[in-house]
Amino acid sequence: MASEAVKVIVRCRPMNEREKALGCKAVVSMESARGQCFLQNPAAGSEPPKQFTFDGAYYQEHNTEQIYNEIAYPLVEGVTEGYNGTIFAYGQTGSGKSFTMQGIVDPSTQKGIIPRAFEHIFESIQCAENAKFLVRASYLEIYNEDIRDLLGADTKQKLELKEHPEKGVYVKGLSLHTVHSVVQCERIMETGWRNRAVGYTLMNKDSSRSHSIFTVNMEIYTVDERGQDHLRAAKLNLVDLAGSERQSKTGATGERLKEATKINLSLSALGNVISALVDGRCKHIPYRDSKLTRLLQDSLGGNTKTLMVACLSPADNNYDESLSTLRYANRAKNIKNKPCINEDPKDALLREYQEEIKKLKAILAEQMSANNLSGLLPAETAHLEAKPAPLLKPHLDLEAEKQLIREEYEERLALLKASYEAEQASRARLEEDISSLRNHYDLKLSALEENLRKEAAAVRTETTPDETALPGATVTAADEEPTSAQDPAVPQTLQDAGGVSRGSAGAEVAVTAEGTSVPADQQQVLARLQMLERQVVGGEQAKNKDLKEKQKRRKKYADERRMQLVAALQQSNEDSGDWVLLNVYDSIQEEVRAKSKLLEKMQKKLRAAETEIKDLQSEFELEKIDYLGTIRRLERDLMLFQQLLDQVQSLVRRDCNYSNLEKIKRESVWDEETGCWKIPEPVVQKTRLPAVPALPQPKPAQKSSSAESGELAPEEDRYKLVLNRSDSETIASNYFRSTRASRILHPDATPSRAPPGPEGALGTAMPRPRPFRLQALALAPPPATTKRRKGKAGSNSRPL
Ligand code: ADP
Ligand code: MG
Repeated sequence: MASEAVKVIVRCRPMNEREKALGCKAVVSMESARGQCFLQNPAAGSEPPKQFTFDGAYYQEHNTEQIYNEIAYPLVEGVTEGYNGTIFAYGQTGSGKSFTMQGIVDPSTQKGIIPRAFEHIFESIQCAENAKFLVRASYLEIYNEDIRDLLGADTKQKLELKEHPEKGVYVKGLSLHTVHSVVQCERIMETGWRNRAVGYTLMNKDSSRSHSIFTVNMEIYTVDERGQDHLRAAKLNLVDLAGSERQSKTGATGERLKEATKINLSLSALGNVISALVDGRCKHIPYRDSKLTRLLQDSLGGNTKTLMVACLSPADNNYDESLSTLRYANRAKNIKNKPCINEDPKDALLREYQEEIKKLKAILAEQMSANNLSGLLPAETAHLEAKPAPLLKPHLDLEAEKQLIREEYEERLALLKASYEAEQASRARLEEDISSLRNHYDLKLSALEENLRKEAAAVRTETTPDETALPGATVTAADEEPTSAQDPAVPQTLQDAGGVSRGSAGAEVAVTAEGTSVPADQQQVLARLQMLERQVVGGEQAKNKDLKEKQKRRKKYADERRMQLVAALQQSNEDSGDWVLLNVYDSIQEEVRAKSKLLEKMQKKLRAAETEIKDLQSEFELEKIDYLGTIRRLERDLMLFQQLLDQVQSLVRRDCNYSNLEKIKRESVWDEETGCWKIPEPVVQKTRLPAVPALPQPKPAQKSSSAESGELAPEEDRYKLVLNRSDSETIASNYFRSTRASRILHPDATPSRAPPGPEGALGTAMPRPRPFRLQALALAPPPATTKRRKGKAGSNSRPL
């Protein structure tokens, strides 16, 4: 399997207003033709700038369109062929990560990588020949090491990471949304973005403190020249990471510090994974150290084509962060991935869809002529069938059909506009195309309505009114955005949230396939078939030569750009390597001049290397200070918990297993899967105590009952003993009980019978107790000690 390095580019944004107001100087410069980035240390003006080389260097004047066309395009194209792809943006807060990933609408050249990827994917899908695609999107965020589904029903719910032997790491319960168009993708992205933003405004936090991953899952079904079908699956992860600034610099405390530590935990885990991957000696890659690295496991050293966009601020006051970003990026470019086409995925939903479609068609074919069947299906999706023929449409499907046509019309219109704008073709041609497209769809719509009219007339003459009321009204809603949980443990077929139950249609198929009975409801089968076919897209523009041509040009452009970069880099390597060659000089002076120049160059390089060493050492120092600070804080936290435990432990019952904490610690195990300790359940161990001979004799009946049960818990023993004690033993209890009992049970009794005391005194002033109160008191258990009884008596007597 061929390996491929992670591609890394840098992008430097323009100075923002704040930096301008502060009078910051630019310390970042670039030589884009060679993909080189230079960083000047503002504190050491005489030092040569640090130099880094990447797969692309984009400065303030460059836009996202260029970035996409030059570097992201081949990666996303690979996804439509069956490779996994990941694009992630890295950098300090405010450096332009979201600007690069999400982008802005105006100007259109700054539209982000994510929406561009949507357009690209659907353009490729529409141009594909003999291929069908199932596209599903998910959007999650990792905040404080918790995963949340930004498109789920409950965006606050924490989701778990799971590992599947074949599928790898996945998020259990993450919703997947089937998408058929760019518009739908954008809508989904906006919903997720809003959920992310809303969540944070409520909590008064800022979205740049979380990592977000938008994933486009694709299943590709192709038929080759020999008529053999193939299935592929691919995933495109679009990652917007949290700000990478060092926590000591942010001056964070309390919750913020905890948050920053967790962000740093993920990012430093990412850094450690990158270092471990690049360092050839490392056997263990610490993917498990954070949720982010576990989710991106395949993108770093695995089966994925990966692109990292390192974002920079040009200002001198961000020098440290910019340097750290550049170092991070420089390390990442040495990671080798092993991308390969994912053939024949085990859990492909598309295969199930195709099989079900075949079966449903077989059922319908049994009942109708082939012509009628084709006519019932949307022309663009009935790829396995003959040309469409006159329709026999149910009333309820008309709206769905209209909607579909309208959507398709809008989509094609948008596509046409985009392509013409890009190529700056003439307006007249555009309008001509639009009007012909409009005519085409108008014709289609009117044909549909005409058919309906004819059909209605036929129905009126041929059937009773009851038979025309058909099921399947839910189909339109169902095929919009079905959601399914990404859980391989649960069969995907059951998770498909179509309005028509898959199970029911499947059952009908089974019955018919065996030839034992006729389908229960033909219209239901039809509705299900249409719903399934609408899930799948592909080949709508297979005959659009212009679009195909445009695609080819874009591919070629990216290739050319890559070749140019390689040539420029080779050239610069040769320039710097000319000292290796033996030169022939005409005179000694010439040789001295040339060699002095070379010496100067070498000295410059040496100085640069020396400052690099110093820098690395000081950065290492800073990191050490950071880590030591974290360790000290954690130790303090630990001490607090230990002291609390010491205090609380004396209050734990002796017969509870938690009274022996050392034993509990020994029995606890760390669970990698959940990232939690598994600790023993608290249990009270009932141990038998020897009989107490010196105690007063219990009543014979009680004695026999305890003997029958065979064993008595010590607690029970104690209570029984208290109960069995004679009244004379508990003087204080007598003192109160007789008063209350006699006052309540014999309200007419003379106060002189009650012994003197606080209760008695109160009792004289009290009105007659009401019946319900009497009942409540009669039900109350007898108090065990004088102290408790006293308190109870006081609180009960007041409301009376
Ligand atoms: P991050 O996501 O890294 O925290 P943002 O993408 O939100 O940062 O960018 C911070 C600000 O800088 C935004 O107002 C954004 O519009 C602006 N910005 C970032 N990159 C550029 C750029 N290349 N050109 C113009 N403005 C930019
Ligand atoms: Mg951001």
